Amino acid sequence: MLAATVAGLAHPEDGINKVQRPLVMSFPGKDPIIVAGAGPVGATLALYLAREGFNVVLLEHCETLPEDLRASTFHSSTLDMLDRLELSQRLIDVGLIVRKFQYRDRRTNEIAEFDMTHIADATRHPYRLQCEQWRLNQFCVADLKNYPNAKVLFSHSVVDVNQDADGVNVICDTPDGQKTIRGSYVFGGDGANSQIRQKSGFDFEGFTWPEKFLVISTTYPLDKYLPRLSAVNYISDPEEWCVLLRCNNMWRVLIPTKPEDTNEKLLSEEWVQDRLQHIAPKQGDFVVGHRTLYNVHQRVASTYRKGRVLIGGDAAHINNPLGGMGMNGGIHDAINLAEKFIAIRDGKADDSALDLYDRQRRITAQKFVQDQSIKNKKQIEEKDPDAQRKMQAEMMRIAADPVLSRPVLLKTSMIEVVRDSYQIT
Ligand SMILES: Cc1cc2nc3c(=O)[nH]c(=O)nc-3n(C[C@H](O)[C@H](O)[C@H](O)COP(=O)(O)OP(=O)(O)OC[C@H]3O[C@@H](n4cnc5c(N)ncnc54)[C@H](O)[C@@H]3O)c2cc1C
Repeated sequence: MLAATVAGLAHPEDGINKVQRPLVMSFPGKDPIIVAGAGPVGATLALYLAREGFNVVLLEHCETLPEDLRASTFHSSTLDMLDRLELSQRLIDVGLIVRKFQYRDRRTNEIAEFDMTHIADATRHPYRLQCEQWRLNQFCVADLKNYPNAKVLFSHSVVDVNQDADGVNVICDTPDGQKTIRGSYVFGGDGANSQIRQKSGFDFEGFTWPEKFLVISTTYPLDKYLPRLSAVNYISDPEEWCVLLRCNNMWRVLIPTKPEDTNEKLLSEEWVQDRLQHIAPKQGDFVVGHRTLYNVHQRVASTYRKGRVLIGGDAAHINNPLGGMGMNGGIHDAINLAEKFIAIRDGKADDSALDLYDRQRRITAQKFVQDQSIKNKKQIEEKDPDAQRKMQAEMMRIAADPVLSRPVLLKTSMIEVVRDSYQIT
């Protein structure tokens, strides 16, 4: 912990003002970096900066951290990064290590199984970790309490932002009325509907798929009833593809829906039971935990920086979840940006390092994550039986060979894309 080296904020309310005017900070020139959104991206950035001694204010719209059903896969590259914040081992302690993942043809039950131990020389974590994303948010926010230079404000919903030559003003709705918080920079980690992005006029280009995705969780042990199931499975089927992911004692089932079906139908007990029966037919009903229906987009902001306003995570890029790159890519943004702030503070870089953050992370999202997630979707939903058969055969050939599978593993674990992103100048 670096708390001893930190100049803490003098009073808990420093940086916060209940009327709409910039407050006077007690440390001139040390206005906090404001982070909007305590999701995995904002919380990781806030913690990294706090540990490095920056004054940080983390603003969260919710009253408490939600435990919602969202991302559940932490890739090797992300775990390697989270080591430096002493988070990976804690996630591992509450998660499930998965060394092999598979692509399966549902009609033939043919399996291409990739073994991540083939990249054990490239990462300290040669596996996928299945663990709910909210656990990371909770660890980060709990750790932030150890840093007097960090403040976490719940029920603070960002509604506007403006900037001048010296700093930013972030306007929030709170239970006590509207407040304006003065900061040196603001980071929008406030998710896909980011107010920071919208109020600062960033373009968010791309498209929305016509179909929604449905995620269902069940405690029913699918692995006992589907032969040779791994804990991470991409299952193609011209009728209805699915992704089956185990997360602790739950199975998460991801399926596409038809655009013409209503939300009411798709979330109904009858429909959910029917879809689960299609995957693992059994007597009686399944015990269902969560069910979540969500729109799927492919969008990247045209820039991640406008002066003192920066964005990252879902605020900056959203993609379909096939390959588990949304949350992971967002955490990579947070780490990259924290490194840039540290380099500027240490005199190793000037302000243009923040433009480099924009290029490294935006070009990576545009060129790799968007392409790869669209390819993954097209592959799993292939309707032509011949094309599907050929693809499955090719995957099986590659997965069976440690040399051939290595480039695939370096790509799917996002190790290669992180390395490539740092090559962008
Ligand atoms: C159902 C579902 C399943 C998914 N599955 C996967 C998966 O398997 N793999 C994967 O990689 N990704 C998946 N994703 C995407 C993944 O969850 C996101 O990429 C990830 O949550 C992005 O993190 P974030 O911190 O950028 O945004 P978020 O997690 O959305 O966090 C944003 C935070 O900001 C807060 N906030 C919002 N507005 C404001 C405001 N105005 N002021 C203050 N705070 C605000 C929110 O309350 C929230 O806490 C899934 C998403 C969904 C919806």
